Amino acid sequence: MRRPPQGVALLGSTGSIGRSAPRVLARHPDRFRVAALTAHSNAEELAAQVAALHPDYIGLVSDGYAVHPGWHVGTESIVEAATLPEVDVVINAIVGAAGLRATLAALEAGKRVALANKESLVVAGTLAESAAARGGGEIVPVDSEHSAILQCIGSRPVTEVRRLIITASGGPFRTWPLERLREAQREDALNHPTWSMGPKITVDSATLVNKALEVIEAHFLFGLPFDRIDVVVHPQSIVHSMVEFVDGSVVAQLGVPTMELPILYALTHPERIGDDGVSPFDPVASSPLTFEPVRHDAFPALALGVEAGRRGGAAPAVFNAANEQAVALFLAGAINFHDISSAIASALSALHAAPGDDLEALLAADAAARQHVKDLFAC
Ligand code: NDP
Ligand code: MG
Repeated sequence: MRRPPQGVALLGSTGSIGRSAPRVLARHPDRFRVAALTAHSNAEELAAQVAALHPDYIGLVSDGYAVHPGWHVGTESIVEAATLPEVDVVINAIVGAAGLRATLAALEAGKRVALANKESLVVAGTLAESAAARGGGEIVPVDSEHSAILQCIGSRPVTEVRRLIITASGGPFRTWPLERLREAQREDALNHPTWSMGPKITVDSATLVNKALEVIEAHFLFGLPFDRIDVVVHPQSIVHSMVEFVDGSVVAQLGVPTMELPILYALTHPERIGDDGVSPFDPVASSPLTFEPVRHDAFPALALGVEAGRRGGAAPAVFNAANEQAVALFLAGAINFHDISSAIASALSALHAAPGDDLEALLAADAAARQHVKDLFAC
């Protein structure tokens, strides 16, 4: 019997992931239909998407924009969109901790969350686990490294996994000497060598904060302790990650660097469906594939984030919020590149005793970390 198409809510539809997802969905109209779209403030782009995709529900978080009749305005709209009865899958492509409430609500409502918004798991991984257990929802990662790990593990139990090896492109500053790094400008940080992404994650890739967020994300998704999650630099971004099993065998997942592949897999997992939207993989053209250690002296934020993950409680929320605030200041031209990791270190040490028992405490830690960073630079 033919199944009706699954309803998809696309949160953050005007962003980099948000604009890639409709291309994937459009190739499978028999499987998926867009039930809801939300954006923060880009009403123009949202209106164009509405005209093309005909969603039932349209949400715009920010007021003060030209809102069309029937649109829902305000922060509540993302939670409403994520929990509509006609929605089966929520693609959470919101940037930052702002995506957290929608992730929790969707899990509680029993939805599949195709999660690009890694910050949700970093800020409140334990709460996401309990929301999923209560409501019957599940997270399937969109992040390419975690999609790779999921595919490598397949149906094997986690007890057979010895170690996860997460690959990192190394970002635009991979080879920059320390002295040159001090002069790094906004434009340099936004010039990513292999991936085209939104500005926040592009800066996170330059500092390696993104890899710290991904280590914490992997810890929650796959249930491995931090000392069994390693990071290796792989500048070509072809090997998306690797899993070492207890017998010493290593399984890797490879592919051209496009987010369309992990987006599709997050929608269909564990099934694979025919799709010819992505150019075929050519191993010879992708050669050579190289691997390097992380330069921890140049990119201290990675170790800071992993340590915050180990500490648990509110520490990952403080790490994330301090980074979000520092990146916003860096993008506004108010601070230097190396100030980002210093600001994170300062917030983590000032707020080391912040409680992280429930959502309220985590949101308070998030707000305190943002304020700490603003005060640090007198902004
Ligand atoms: P973008 O900055 O390109 O897009 C962000 C989206 O979120 C936009 O639609 C934006 O709306 C919306 N948004 C921003 N702030 C809020 C808010 N406060 N409330 C609700 N919606 C908001 O980000 P990316 O697409 O690059 O990244 C999205 C997420 O996916 C991030 O968590 C990132 O780490 C993750 N990710 C991204 C990858 C990529 O290739 N880009 C790869 C792997 C993970 P508006 O346009 O109206 O401002
Ligand atoms: Mg990633």
